[in-house]
Amino acid sequence: MSSLKELIVKLSEAPGCPGYEGSISDIIKEEISGHADNVTVDALNNILASKGSGKTVMIAAHMDEIGLLVKHVDSKGFVRFAKLGGISDQLLQGQRVTIFTNKGPVPGVVGCKPIHLMSDHDRKKLVGYDKMFIDIGAGSAEEAGALGMRIGDPIVIDRKVTELKNGLICGKALDDRVGCAILIEVLKRVQPRNRLVAAFTIQEEIGLKGATVSAFAVSPDLGLAVDTGIAADHPEVTEHEGPIKLGHGPAILAADGRRDSLSGGLVCGTAIRDWLIKLAEEKGIPYQLEVFEGGTTDATVMQLSRSGVPTGVVSVPSRYIHTFSEVVAMEDVENVVKLITAVVEADLPV
Ligand SMILES: [Zn+2]
Repeated sequence: MSSLKELIVKLSEAPGCPGYEGSISDIIKEEISGHADNVTVDALNNILASKGSGKTVMIAAHMDEIGLLVKHVDSKGFVRFAKLGGISDQLLQGQRVTIFTNKGPVPGVVGCKPIHLMSDHDRKKLVGYDKMFIDIGAGSAEEAGALGMRIGDPIVIDRKVTELKNGLICGKALDDRVGCAILIEVLKRVQPRNRLVAAFTIQEEIGLKGATVSAFAVSPDLGLAVDTGIAADHPEVTEHEGPIKLGHGPAILAADGRRDSLSGGLVCGTAIRDWLIKLAEEKGIPYQLEVFEGGTTDATVMQLSRSGVPTGVVSVPSRYIHTFSEVVAMEDVENVVKLITAVVEADLPV
């Protein structure tokens, strides 16, 4: 059985673009085997693992990661791509990638015009992803086709996990493989007081899709998303812009949504938020309260499922989110496991 850190490394390094989460769901199904009363996989590839009986707590973590998709292969074998999820174009130049074809993985590199050949004016501008391409070393479209390359094949950035000082780990897709690892760990460790449904969801990054249909199927009494949240305790961000810090414990969400209005997000009811705070305090788990402008999680659609579900979010603070080198503290991950364990072992506030 993998340790929590080994599990995070395995999940982080595996490929799983939105719509192509099969490698991730294979790892999860193997890890949770024997640790749930019932495991189902729905038509969209969401995994629903239930354990215990009574009122239903649905806890969601998404399996997908930001990535790319083959859009076009030109006559010289160069690949143009679309983006799947929120990726800043300036991260892409020079990235090594793997394209997953029906004949197996094909390595490539993201190329663009070298700065040496740019005008002084163009050098100062950001290069858009539409000015980039993937070089797989093929000399023609036919050669690319012979490798199995087809329009729509998923492309994942290659990145191993590395460890930084003080228990920090750095890797791709920690958003939200860390959440998946936490849910797996809770299934392994805990006998729930109520009925736990651990939902490993698909396509969160492109519209919260897996959680939408899973919440309908599960019809929970209480919902929770476990995801990564923005830690910005680093240069070039003022404290009020990004107050969440690595190593200071789980972030309990008060509200999130679009910048300026928080529309399209979640306002967590005080009943759920205060209950999470009470559980953290009873167990001596450090925590941070969060208002996040600029995004949302699976919790938003869980809250709006059927006639409404009281829903909250617990986040693992993460620096450099939606880059391919996200950084989390193992201490925070362990504390989120403890808080989610407390949730699953507690009487519900609903
Ligand atoms: Zn996420």
